[in-house]
Amino acid sequence: MNQEERVVLEHRGYMKQAIEIACQNLQRPFGALLVDSVEGEVIASAVNRSYRNPVAHSELEVIHKAVEQNAGDVAWQNTVMYVTAEPCPMCMAGILWTGIPKVVYGSTMMTLKEMGYRHIAVPATQMTAAATGNLSCELIGGVLETDCDALFAAAMKLERKSRGAGI
Ligand SMILES: [Zn+2]
Repeated sequence: MNQEERVVLEHRGYMKQAIEIACQNLQRPFGALLVDSVEGEVIASAVNRSYRNPVAHSELEVIHKAVEQNAGDVAWQNTVMYVTAEPCPMCMAGILWTGIPKVVYGSTMMTLKEMGYRHIAVPATQMTAAATGNLSCELIGGVLETDCDALFAAAMKLERKSRGAGI
């Protein structure tokens, strides 16, 4: 196995964990995992909690959790965030301000839009391109994309069903 294959396997392994976390909220299966890539340790994980707080997207939640659990002492420059879908502009801005240098995601914003999800459709690449100074972030999309897409398709089905039932 060469280095590149090892990296792909590693990304898939962490994405699997992000998917497991996402399954804690089957109606909004956005799950995020923050990993220390030097130590190979999971720093924090979070699921979308917008049912309680409209801006509690998993990416911002995992940043808040990492800060709380480590008394604000996080080596952000060593972190990688794994998330089941491409971050929205709010989250991408949060990621850039935090200084997380790499985000690995599954489903694309475009796919979610096509499925009927509401979106502020500014792609993550556009957000990183607009960042100045030392604000930057590498984006790797499409990791376990089929699994993530299936999760979001099932969630949309669930939502349509509950809407149909008048809930
Ligand atoms: Zn978001």
